[in-house]
Amino acid sequence: MINGSRWTIGFGFTGKTKGRVDDGVCRYATNRIVIQASHNGRFRSLEECVIHEVAHAVLPQIDEATILHLGEITAKVLIKMRAAEPHKH
Ligand SMILES: [Zn+2]
Repeated sequence: MINGSRWTIGFGFTGKTKGRVDDGVCRYATNRIVIQASHNGRFRSLEECVIHEVAHAVLPQIDEATILHLGEITAKVLIKMRAAEPHKH
C-alpha cells in the first residue's frame, strides 16, 4: 500500500528515453512500478531502481533530481551496511 492505494511492482518493458532503455518507470495512472531486467540493458542496480521508483510513488511531488540523488545515496549506503553487518556464527 502506498498513500492509501495498492500498487504492484514487477519486471517488464519500461520504454526508452532519447534512445536509451529506462531503468524503471512509475505509472501513477495504474499504480504500477515497472523495473527493467538487467539483461535488457538496465543501467543502475536493482536496489537503486527499486528505491528510486518507490520514492516517486510515495512522493509524487518531488523532482527527478532529488529522487535520483536519494536512490543513488541509499543504494550506496545499503551496499556498505551489508558489507559491514556483523554475522553471527
Ligand atoms: Zn525518476
